[in-house]
Amino acid sequence: MARLVMKFGGTSVGDLDRIRNVARHVKREVDAGHKVAVVVSAMAGETNKLVDYCRAISPLHDAREYDAVVATGEQVSTGLLALTLQSMGIDARSWQGWQIPIRTDGAHGAARITGIEGDRLIERIEGGQVAVVAGFQGIAPDGRISTLGRGGSDTSAVAIAAAIHADRCDIYTDVDGVYTTDPRIVSAARRLPRVSYEEMLEMASLGAKVLQVRSVELAMIHGVRTFVRSSFDDPEAIRAAGNQPVGTLICDEDEIVEQQIVTGIAYSKDEAQISIRRVADRPGVAASVFGPMAQANINVDMIVQNISPDGSTTDITFTVPQTEYDRAISVLEDNRDVIGYSSIEGAQDVVKVSVIGVGMRSHAGVAAAAFRALSDKGINIRAITTSEIKVSVLIDAAYAELAVRALHSVYELDKATSA
Ligand code: ADP
Ligand code: ASP
Ligand code: MG
Repeated sequence: MARLVMKFGGTSVGDLDRIRNVARHVKREVDAGHKVAVVVSAMAGETNKLVDYCRAISPLHDAREYDAVVATGEQVSTGLLALTLQSMGIDARSWQGWQIPIRTDGAHGAARITGIEGDRLIERIEGGQVAVVAGFQGIAPDGRISTLGRGGSDTSAVAIAAAIHADRCDIYTDVDGVYTTDPRIVSAARRLPRVSYEEMLEMASLGAKVLQVRSVELAMIHGVRTFVRSSFDDPEAIRAAGNQPVGTLICDEDEIVEQQIVTGIAYSKDEAQISIRRVADRPGVAASVFGPMAQANINVDMIVQNISPDGSTTDITFTVPQTEYDRAISVLEDNRDVIGYSSIEGAQDVVKVSVIGVGMRSHAGVAAAAFRALSDKGINIRAITTSEIKVSVLIDAAYAELAVRALHSVYELDKATSA
């Protein structure tokens, strides 16, 4: 008998039939004797619709009211799932973030969970009631509803699993695990039986939206055993096969027996490139560019600066999230006198493609193979960044899928096996 968190994403609760199917999965675990807290997202498309309403009223809307609007999608799905479970004879009760409470900081729209009081939830689920918790939302220090950023229900689930000391957190979604790359882009992508926390963190932060980045951080910090699995699998078939978890386990690196050099390829379309031409090549210039960016809360990612050919001026190129592009340009224009440059050039039709694998720590030549594969396809690289376990390149958006496929095959990810 175990304590479980089961999280179901938007597609998995997309209509009433799917909610009934989710309820059957919950029943399967309850029948096996487990104590269950369920975390649900809004029904597919709902959050987008609510975000669009806010944007249509005002692009610069009040973040507190945005949260009041967008958090409602999850309230609907908790109630519908609790009703469905009740109609199947299962004791169930819905919980909104503030009722638990799930406390967050005050960054409305992108809040971070600061603490969860798990005692009442533990008491209820140990008493045999299924708790159906709204993902994505919490309560800020000002007492108002907050939301955790897009995809935030994953983070709610892992945080609740940590708070109630769950034995496992199962993230049910519309794919049956974490793949070597997005299976919607590369049909030859393979499901990985296990992925280390560290690699999953890189994959998520580099664009693989199967898990929200913060959920992986929390899973790593608290050692939450997290499975990514499909809600579309037949609950009865799983029951008949012994009710074992199937999918991808996110776990410690040393639990992975056969480690590959490269584990996966991720891509992100949410990128924009900015080049500042002819800035003075002197100490303090980078600080004069990136200081104001930090003050404006704009996340700068890749940075390329050349050695000046003539000892006097050089170019600086960097990337920002596409949503921050206009703001970044206006910050640079406001600071033109301090920085001193001849012009600014920008590109928004760019993508970042990344190769990820802990095996890179001990193997040379991974980056070189990526550059060769891209050049064989005639793809030009605009910027490069590397870390111990990843290589990222910025390229024209038109080549995104070609690049992901080329890199996927150059590391033989369609053939590799790992355990
Ligand atoms: P949910 O609504 O269940 O939270 P998401 O749409 O947020 O689901 O995440 C699941 C999607 O993530 C999949 O449909 C898939 O297209 C995408 N994805 C991107 N990269 C990967 C990957 N490496 N492995 C699996 N899925 C991935
Ligand atoms: N419903 C929210 C979103 O669409 C949270 C989630 O699905 O994880 O971003
Ligand atoms: Mg998601």
